[in-house]
Amino acid sequence: MRRIRQNCPFEKLHPSVLVRDDAFYMALAYNQAIEAWREDEVPIGAVIECRGDVVAAAHNGVDSLRDPTAHAEILAITQASAYLGDWRLNACTLYVTKEPCPMCAGATVMARLGRVVFAWGDPKMGCLGGAAAMHELPRLNHRVEVFSGVLEAECRSLLQAYFAMKRGKDGASAWVDA
Ligand SMILES: [Zn+2]
Repeated sequence: MRRIRQNCPFEKLHPSVLVRDDAFYMALAYNQAIEAWREDEVPIGAVIECRGDVVAAAHNGVDSLRDPTAHAEILAITQASAYLGDWRLNACTLYVTKEPCPMCAGATVMARLGRVVFAWGDPKMGCLGGAAAMHELPRLNHRVEVFSGVLEAECRSLLQAYFAMKRGKDGASAWVDA
């Protein structure tokens, strides 16, 4: 099955490298989400920052990898652990364009991530405070700090536009596999 490269109507962001704040890293995650769209994947992106360095950047790859666990966060956690040579990511922050699902929220706890920042909440499947709060299980001895709302409008618009295209008549033809 050959996958057709998709045109994404959204432009990548170009944040200043001089200000390395949450919005900077989330912009990189957003750019990963655009890459996902171009590869015919649901546009969700993630990056992991450690002491000012980007140690992982990934996007959703469920369809192309034919792997239901190939969510952006899981791929990024694997990359960061390999890069740092340590599965404990206490010193790291994960930035992701949407609230993590049950699997990914669980992985953030298992990886002992220091912080997770997500753009917008998912009341249906989000498990860092949306539908459930995996990081607040009462007997956990590791606490992940969770923040949300960074580049919320941009990340939400991207994902909603993608699903609208997928549902729409114009978009339907773009979804025929070659
Ligand atoms: Zn997930």
